[in-house]
Amino acid sequence: MHLSRFPRQRFAHLPTPLEPMERLSKHLGGPRLWIKRDDCTGLSGGGNKTRKLEFLIGDALAKGCDTVITQGATQSNHARQTAAAAARFGLECHLLLEDRTGFQSPDYTLNGNVLLDRLHGAHLSKRSGGTDMNAEMETLAAELRAKGKKPYVIPGGGSNAVGALGYANCAFELVAQANERGLKLAHAVHATGSAGTQAGFVTGLVAINSGIPVLGIGVRAPKEKQEQAVFALCERTAEHLGVPGIVKREHVAANCDYVGPGYGLPTEGMAEAVKLLARLEGILLDPVYTGKGMHGLIDLVGKGFFAKDSDVVFLHTGGSAGLFAYPDAFDLPS
Ligand SMILES: *Cc1c(COP(=O)(O)O)cnc(C)c1O
Repeated sequence: MHLSRFPRQRFAHLPTPLEPMERLSKHLGGPRLWIKRDDCTGLSGGGNKTRKLEFLIGDALAKGCDTVITQGATQSNHARQTAAAAARFGLECHLLLEDRTGFQSPDYTLNGNVLLDRLHGAHLSKRSGGTDMNAEMETLAAELRAKGKKPYVIPGGGSNAVGALGYANCAFELVAQANERGLKLAHAVHATGSAGTQAGFVTGLVAINSGIPVLGIGVRAPKEKQEQAVFALCERTAEHLGVPGIVKREHVAANCDYVGPGYGLPTEGMAEAVKLLARLEGILLDPVYTGKGMHGLIDLVGKGFFAKDSDVVFLHTGGSAGLFAYPDAFDLPS
């Protein structure tokens, strides 16, 4: 795969470390668990959107755009990383934030990612839950064009075939790291939402015939819908990469049993997983994605889903800024 054929700006700190989680592995009694630290991509607190933004911002600049527009939930990590990337390249940034939880506390509406969006100088505008956010972005783009701007619209989560290239890149990077160490990865697990991470990752892993299966732990949609969204984007990503049709439907697997009451709504399993990683590994997860993803991984380990004598990697997709929006989710002693 020759990713250099695609426009890209390099600002992520890569490669991200691949580290063993010895205390967690011991605590759970196997398999050997590893963590790929995409929470350490370096841009404004890091996270998975940074890899996608290398290609999206690259494309925006190649097209001569001077403004970016994107959308997400109030506490969107994608919005925060987009605001930072835009700042870095002197682009005007407009964020449309959808209230998907109804939470009104100042921590939720102003702290965490929202604080960082504002520090980066992004223009924020709120929408109520259920709004057609793509239509809102198009309306805003038309308004900005009428004012002489050249806006580049980034879909929610940066999840299109351009953004997904960032996770094909991650697949190549992870396999190179595993090969260097003689590490045979039996499975990769990560939180999946807008589908770009899993689609790029799976497409990259399949394209180099790695044989590593991926399990996405859903944070929003039911299983069938999530898998279809990922698969559809795998097909577009493979086509964009010049290898149409290589990803088969059976390469795409999601488990959506850990969503709880809904997107961005805390669960007990999430809170336990966040505390466990903080206390056993000194690693910060997040309440919306990686806490639920890790809850899924831990629960599946308990159910014997992975062979005890195998190596399993959790892709840490970031998000810890969101912890500051959810101070009451963890039942902590005062
Ligand atoms: C966006 C996000 C995800 C999910 O990635 P998608 O590409 O949207 O599926 C996972 N973890 C964190 C922390 C995120 O911000």
